[in-house]
Amino acid sequence: MTRKNTESYTSTCCYCGVGCGVVVNKEKNGSITVEGDKIHPVNKGMLCSKGINLHHTVNDKTDRLLYPQMRYNKSMPMQRVSWDNALDRAAAVFKTFIDKYGPDSVAFYASGQCLTEEYYVLNKLMKGFIGSNNIDTNSRLCMSSAVVGYKKALGEDSVPVCYDDIELADCFYVTGANPAWCHPILWRRVEAHKAANPQIKIIVVDPRVTDSASIADLHLQINPGTDITLNHAIGRVLIENGDIDLDFVTNHAEGFEAYSELVFTKTVHNAALICGVSETDIRLAAKYIGNANGFISMWTMGLNQSAIGVNKNLSLINLNLITGNIGKPGCGPLSLTGQPNAMGGREVGGLSNLLPAHRDMANPMHRAEVQQFWGGATINPQPGLTATEMFEALNDGRLKAIWILCTNPMTSLPNVRLAEEALKKAKFVVVQEITNRSECLPYADVILPAAAWAEKEGTMTNSERRISYLNKVIDAPGEALPDAEIICRFAKKMGYKGFDFKDAAAIYAEHVKLTEKTNIDISGLSYEILKERKTVQWPYKKKSALHGTPRLFADKKFYTPSAKAIIHAVPDELTSEMPDARFPFILTTGRIRDQWHTMSKTGKVNKLNQHYPQAFLEIHPTDAEALQISEGDVAVITSKRGEVQVKAKISTQIKQGVVFLPMHWGKVLGNDLNRANNLTSDKIDPMSKEPDFKFCAVRVEKYKKP
Ligand code: SF4
Repeated sequence: MTRKNTESYTSTCCYCGVGCGVVVNKEKNGSITVEGDKIHPVNKGMLCSKGINLHHTVNDKTDRLLYPQMRYNKSMPMQRVSWDNALDRAAAVFKTFIDKYGPDSVAFYASGQCLTEEYYVLNKLMKGFIGSNNIDTNSRLCMSSAVVGYKKALGEDSVPVCYDDIELADCFYVTGANPAWCHPILWRRVEAHKAANPQIKIIVVDPRVTDSASIADLHLQINPGTDITLNHAIGRVLIENGDIDLDFVTNHAEGFEAYSELVFTKTVHNAALICGVSETDIRLAAKYIGNANGFISMWTMGLNQSAIGVNKNLSLINLNLITGNIGKPGCGPLSLTGQPNAMGGREVGGLSNLLPAHRDMANPMHRAEVQQFWGGATINPQPGLTATEMFEALNDGRLKAIWILCTNPMTSLPNVRLAEEALKKAKFVVVQEITNRSECLPYADVILPAAAWAEKEGTMTNSERRISYLNKVIDAPGEALPDAEIICRFAKKMGYKGFDFKDAAAIYAEHVKLTEKTNIDISGLSYEILKERKTVQWPYKKKSALHGTPRLFADKKFYTPSAKAIIHAVPDELTSEMPDARFPFILTTGRIRDQWHTMSKTGKVNKLNQHYPQAFLEIHPTDAEALQISEGDVAVITSKRGEVQVKAKISTQIKQGVVFLPMHWGKVLGNDLNRANNLTSDKIDPMSKEPDFKFCAVRVEKYKKP
């Protein structure tokens, strides 16, 4: 595409998992501008505040890492070196540790922002050649409970819905999510649908009165952590009212009897007391769902980031299953991914317990298939270390070397001071990054400069299984290289065969071949097809229909051994750290509208920093008054693990006894007292290993000068 004085390329926004299409215009002076892609099926030209400012993050090169750097011990300053020097050193150190302590002494910690091709080569290198499964990503902090939930209920980590189902639905149950701020363009589609059809119902479940709640017909402002109790109570009322799909639960699902027995062990009245909402509102929610012809449940971190995250997911998916709201137009459980390519990462097996194309690490046939295809080392049947486990293993010395790319764990991990200690103790740290904003850099032995969005080509998959091709628009500055190229160069330095890819298209071609005959089969796809069609939803088998598969399970055949969906009767026991006399408040953390993750990109954009220029504590007026805290006073928030000091924002939008901190801020001008994860707990979900970011016990006091 060309315009006067510009060249235009299509791409995909690299922030959230909505996956909006953008047109990137390359100006004569080499800078870029972006606009919404009017013909993209996801956003139809719309972009949110983050997306519309994307070009600033690329045009501003002042903080870019431009060349590889290295030092031989932590007391030395970093020195500029060649790519060969840096990668030779990294390979030599990795080989030494692997020879001396075994392959599990090294690890890669990557990101849901990596492109699929980058994920693929990382995964191939660690699992297929180094012989360890120690590759995990920050998607563990974000999506892993949904992955396990889908797999347990549907037999496969498969989002059954497409975004076009939004305009066909007449009831939305939005829980543990604030899409008005965190998935704005998707939410605009819900808002527009509601505006055109006022009779459709929107139910929002959230302990806070969010912007998403502002258009809801019913806001259930539950006590934090009571989601399962609420979902079970709604399930009970649906059964009482006869609003279940008998044919579906009898012929296409298993487990309804046990579920029914379980949900009747608690009265709706008792459930209402536990959840802190009225019985009438629970019954109304069930009525809205029961009356719907098309019912979509939507969720994200509020359910996933929990010590009982998988069970929360299952209790929600149950509502779709018992009402038969799956596999048909306008309905289904739609997990919203936080990162742009969390889904693509899962496709290539980019978590420490997965193999490519959603194959099972515990299945010997699956391991053999992948091993034969790659022609490398025997694949280890034991899952590797997950995100938080990697930092524990650095702390206790099991892990010697870690390679961190495209993520900033020093802000995003729970109980982050433990992670700081871990990086101090690590014998060898490689940081592969775009800018000097990563808080991991002071701990690095080797720093590798990476190309940014628009400086490399590749693919990503959004929340509705839509794969998009991203064009390279401009060259990376200095000596920065695309992440996939860095990893392939390193693999060759390690002496491994199978990393001599001509380009990103060749990596993609190998990836799609490995998906053949699996449930996520995209063996019919290639860069040529993606460039021509721009986006395609998987599965996309050879000789597939024009645009892939928008909706799964239309035949009511699920990926379980019985081909039936599984209704899980999950307990509603909360295992989080409970408040007590010393720490009487529940802390929940979350996102604000104009920042994304740890602000390494959005923090560069002045316009975005204006929304909330600094971190804050949201607290209810009654609690603030009892603590003699006024608006703007500095509050000191303490947990068993650490402290935060930020200004108080007094608001009736939060429940009494609950306080909220945004998770974006890390060290600001050397001060790390803005960092919410100083406080969060080490608890994780036992199945998904996802941390409990949404619930820990804290004390709040007014700051007093020492
Ligand atoms: Fe980007 Fe998400 Fe905003 Fe779309 S909704 S423009 S993908 S941040």
